[in-house]
Amino acid sequence: MAEMHTELIQWFEKHQRELPWRTHPTPYYVWLSEVILQQTRVSQGLDYFNRFVERWPSLRDLAEASEEEVLKEWQGLGYYSRARNLHKCAKEVVKRYNGELPDDYQQLLKLPGIGPYTAAAIASIAFGQPHAVVDGNVYRVLSRLFDMDTPINSEEGAKSFAKIADALLDRDHPGQHNQAMMEFGALQCLPSNPDCLFCPLQSHCLAFANGTIAARPVKIPKAKVRTRYLNYLVISDKNNNRYLRKRQDKDIWKNLYDFPCLEGDHCFTADELADSPEFARLIQHKDFQINRITSPFTHKLTHQTLVATFFEIKILDFLPVFQENNILLVPENELGNYPVPKLIENYLNL
Ligand code: SF4
Repeated sequence: MAEMHTELIQWFEKHQRELPWRTHPTPYYVWLSEVILQQTRVSQGLDYFNRFVERWPSLRDLAEASEEEVLKEWQGLGYYSRARNLHKCAKEVVKRYNGELPDDYQQLLKLPGIGPYTAAAIASIAFGQPHAVVDGNVYRVLSRLFDMDTPINSEEGAKSFAKIADALLDRDHPGQHNQAMMEFGALQCLPSNPDCLFCPLQSHCLAFANGTIAARPVKIPKAKVRTRYLNYLVISDKNNNRYLRKRQDKDIWKNLYDFPCLEGDHCFTADELADSPEFARLIQHKDFQINRITSPFTHKLTHQTLVATFFEIKILDFLPVFQENNILLVPENELGNYPVPKLIENYLNL
């Protein structure tokens, strides 16, 4: 075990990327980076991290922001519940711990959006405590080193891999060990074509010895993906005001903004749109013309594929302020101030 630790750390010291949360491993930086990097590559997450710490240099600053400001800064990263929980967590830490993240693993676990993985990362990297981190990269490295065929996304897998990661942890240097394992998975033991020929852990790797690398890790296939058809109504009036909708349902993109939408089992034609009672209600039976219908945009989420068509509609009058409080009337030049999902951002960037 000691030999493996030495080889891993030597590799890490030579190959690790220089990252702000490594140079300054404060609890705030470690927590923020771990939340941003869940489901996100370092190359993409780094810009977001830098923008967050520039705008909110401390956890207390972040807690004082509005949720809408945090969502706007998060725009494009996806999985928006992470941003909502990040903000909730900051507020909670200010309220309960005077703005300092606690150094206790169990207390960390009770904070919004902090699960075993993030709690272990903060406890080990920021506070030097012996808790093993198991992220996607570590699952892959462990499944290969020990040639394990237990699915990593099963309950049994979570328990077995956590146990092995804990047994393997270098208890004298837990933060460095965890970072080295994650970095090793990210740079050396890649999902396809890992660099086995020049791998310092090759002599310990059972999957290499057994020729099973390509079959590790094992995963249970994902549930079937559902396709949804979104017919977006981009309605503008004589003053170039647009209707914008705040999403409030228990659906995707809670508290982000998009346009009023007619959802169906296909992309609507112009005639279908014009015949829709919901559309007539929205424009309050005013005269209109459809200026453009975009080609469908396809946007993939974890369990859903969204097929979105945007109908650009001009009302030859003024749009009324809507009674429903989630429909806003917004001047065109202010649309960019609102946090929107990536799909809407892609359309607006057209
Ligand atoms: S030998 Fe290959 S599969 Fe095994 S740990 Fe090294 S890079 Fe990963």
